[in-house]
This record gives sequence, C-alpha cells and structure tokens, in this order.
Amino acid sequence: MTYEYDRENIFAKIIRGEIPNDTVLETEHCLAFRDITPQAPVHILVIPKGNYVNFDHFGAAASDAEIVDFSRTIAKITKDVAVDPASGGNGYRLIANSGRDPVQEVAHMHVHILAGRPLGRMLQKT
Ligand code: 5GP
Repeated sequence: MTYEYDRENIFAKIIRGEIPNDTVLETEHCLAFRDITPQAPVHILVIPKGNYVNFDHFGAAASDAEIVDFSRTIAKITKDVAVDPASGGNGYRLIANSGRDPVQEVAHMHVHILAGRPLGRMLQKT
C-alpha cells in the first residue's frame, strides 16, 4: 500500500508555520488548532506533525509514540474545553474524514472535535 503525501497541502503549511493558526495545544507529535470555518461552538482540528494522508495511513505507519500522543492530545483537549462527560461536560463528536465518500477536503490526517451544541444524530440521509 502506498500513500502519496502532498507536502503543499494547507495543514502541512500550517505545521511549517507558513500559514497562521489559532493553536489550542501543541505536543511533540501533534498540533491542535481551531477550524477556520467552525461548524459548532467548539470545532478543533487535531493533526499529527508527521506526513500522513488520512487515518488508515496514520494507523498503519505512525509510531506507537505518535499514536499514543494523538489519542492523549484529544483526551486532554476535551478536558481543557470542559466537554468531556467525566467532568460533567455535554460531550463531543470526533470525525475523521478519509477519502472521497466522506469528502476529505485536506489530505493531511486530522480529527475534528465538535462540541458546544446539540449535534443531532450521526448522519443525515441524503
Ligand atoms: P475535511 O473535510 O478535510 O475533514 O476538513 C477540513 C477542515 O479544514 C474543514 O473543516 C475546513 O474548514 C478546515 N480548514 C481548511 N483550511 C483551513 C485553514 O487554512 N485553517 C484552518 N484553521 N482550518 C482550515
């Protein structure tokens, strides 16, 4: 399986500091920042700093340290913004669009954290 990673995608430029971002949290392996077109009061993107196209690429090729850091970063953010149910928050949704059918717009692995309003059921029939 080969993955073609485009180093000129917008998130690669954000990681390199060529495009500004509203950073929420940065770790050794990840960057989390606010989505430029928020779909909910909380809309944060979490991306690995490594060159991964999507979730299946990340899951197959990233190191254990990168994968652990990614999960822990998401968990930390949900606590920091007080949406995690364990702290009495109203919860959140994670979305990882990968490929054509879910309409992945940016070909750098990312997870959306959405929260801060009722989000409805998972999918609408189209
Ligand atoms: P996708 O459809 O690939 O899962 O989502 C890509 C997301 O990236 C979209 O929600 C879009 O608003 C966001 N986005 C695209 N360009 C930029 C940018 O330059 N800065 C930030 N912060 N978000 C962006």
